[in-house]
Parts: sequence; structure tokens; C-alpha cells
Amino acid sequence: MSTGKLTIDLDAIAANWRALDGMTNCATGAVIKADAYGLGADRVGRALLKAGARQFFVAYAEEGADLRQAIGPDASIYILSGHMSGDTDMIADLALTPVLNSLDQLTRHFEALPGRPFGIQLDTGMNRLGMEWDEWSAVAGIALAQGPDLVMSHLACADEPDHPMNAYQLDLFRRMTEGTGVPLSFAATGGILLGKDYHFEITRPGIGLYGGQPFAAARPVVRLDLPVAQVRHLEAGEVVGYGNSWQARRPTRIASVVAGYADGLLRSLSNKGALWAGNTPCPLVGRVSMDTITVDVTDLEEVPSALTMIGPNQSVDDLASVAGTIGYEILTSLGSRYNRRYHSA
Ligand SMILES: *Cc1c(COP(=O)(O)O)cnc(C)c1O
Repeated sequence: MSTGKLTIDLDAIAANWRALDGMTNCATGAVIKADAYGLGADRVGRALLKAGARQFFVAYAEEGADLRQAIGPDASIYILSGHMSGDTDMIADLALTPVLNSLDQLTRHFEALPGRPFGIQLDTGMNRLGMEWDEWSAVAGIALAQGPDLVMSHLACADEPDHPMNAYQLDLFRRMTEGTGVPLSFAATGGILLGKDYHFEITRPGIGLYGGQPFAAARPVVRLDLPVAQVRHLEAGEVVGYGNSWQARRPTRIASVVAGYADGLLRSLSNKGALWAGNTPCPLVGRVSMDTITVDVTDLEEVPSALTMIGPNQSVDDLASVAGTIGYEILTSLGSRYNRRYHSA
């Protein structure tokens, strides 16, 4: 074993999907964009199909095309970026459902693929994707006459339950969709936790499936163990790594561990993070380099063959807060060089 070992628990992902599904009385989709938040859209997609998911959401048509090959014909695959120029063949050949975001996209879809499935995204204040009030008022009649599968919008502040933006967006979404008779989708992970007013007909959890905040009750999904390549002794006063950014204050043992920022160990963890030997934390010292990090293992009786970066003592969100980011970025940064193992019963 020369590269890190990334263990992905597919049973935990399925259990998280079922737990989120159990919080609502509506259909529960699954957001598996960005290769299922870095964990492998083909394996995750098949596990969730088996768990019962029938509505999948990805960002781009290319992701949808790959997912269709992995999960077969029995589920809807929604494309959140909509129907972009150049997507038409993929959408048609692989039976993808674009979520149309603008008048331009509506026109493109109705002209290129009349009668083929589509959804609609409305902007309720996030100002990212979707049609705003005026644009929607102008085209709603035409669009609804074509029979969309779904009308959706997205919350900007759902991970802050007390944020006034939540109720503001909910009110606007209700007014924009009143009387349409189309299945509505509003809640991602955070929105599910806000309660039943936010659930409508289909939810779209992503991060919660993968064990991340704000779904505090999630089962952990990821474990990352990194092999030790070399251990050396330093005298007090010696330095470690690029830029001499760390200096030993006592006789020190340093383990060189083979993973770096090219594997998603963010450089902001330099001189901040820790790896674990069982229940003992070992500080990451010196700068994170491309393929290597250096760890102070002086206080260990015995240096194990691998140290744990993500595991029982350090969750994805713990690591994110040390790195100054969010769990989403930690997961989607996980590199392609790890030896991946998928667990399922
Ligand atoms: C990413 C995304 C989701 C999933 O959000 P989570 O916070 O990961 O649950 C749902 N809907 C849209 C439109 C998204 O972009």
C-alpha cells in the first residue's frame, strides 16, 4: 500500500438517505453532482437506487450521461445547469431532464426537443440560477402548457434555521408556484431540517447523504488513512518542510506521510491540522506540500504504518473547520490518487 486508503461506507450513505426520507412525507431525491461530492457517482448512484431513490440531481449534462450508464433507465436524472448549448444530443440520447433556468434555455429546449421532459428553476432571492418573478410571469403560461416534471427553487441560508431569508424565500416560492399543479421541490439537506413547510413534493439532499453538516444525526461515511513513508529524529532547533515554517523545540520524531494538497489536504492545514494514531492526536507540522505532509509523532510509543486523517476522532466537518472551509469542499477535494474501498453489506 503506497497511497492513502479512502474508505467509503455505501451502507451509511443509504442509511442517511433513509433517515432524511423518514423526516418527510414526500419523495426524497439525491444530489450526486461533482461525482457524488467526490465519493464516486456510479457507486453512490447504484447504492441509492437500491435504497429507493428515483430522482437524481447532477450539475452538468456530462455528469448525467455518466450517471445514466451507471444506474440504468429506471430513475429521473435532473440537470441543474439546465439545457446548455451543446447538450441537446446528450439530453436526448440518455433521457436526461434539464432544469431550465431562463427564457433562453426554455426556447432552446422547446425548439430542439419538443415534448421531451424538463423541469424549471425559479430564483427566489439567491440570484444564482433560475427565473425571477418578471421573467417567470412572462413565460409561465407557455412553460406550464408544455408540462414540466418539476418546478424548483433553492434556499440560500437553510443551514441557519433562524435566518429571515428562509421564510422570505418560502413565501416567494409559494406565490410564484400557486395553482401550477406541478410537483414542487425546494429543500436540500438544510431545508429538510427546517420542517414540513419546506418539503413540498420532492426534496434534494446532498451533503446529508455524505455525513456532513447541517445533518448532525448523519452516519459518518468517509475514512481516510494515510501511510507513513519514513520516520526521522530531529534535534531541538531543526526545521521541517518548505519555508522552514516549523522548528523543533525539543528532540522530535517526524513521520512523513504520503498525501498532500494534490490529494485534497488543503494547504491551509499547514501547521494547524492533526492526524490520529488510534485515539492520540499527532500535530501536522510544517507546510502541506503537494504529495507529502509531516507529522510530529514524538509522543507515540510506536509509530503505526498509517495515520488517520478522517475517522472516528476527526470528522469531515472537524477537518473543515481547522482548514477554514466547509465539509463540502473537503469532500469534493479528495483526490483521485487514493486507493478507494467501498463498503456495503
Ligand atoms: C447542491 C445542491 C443541492 C444539495 O444541497 P446540500 O446542501 O448538499 O443538501 C440541492 N439543490 C441544488 C440546486 C443544489 O445546487
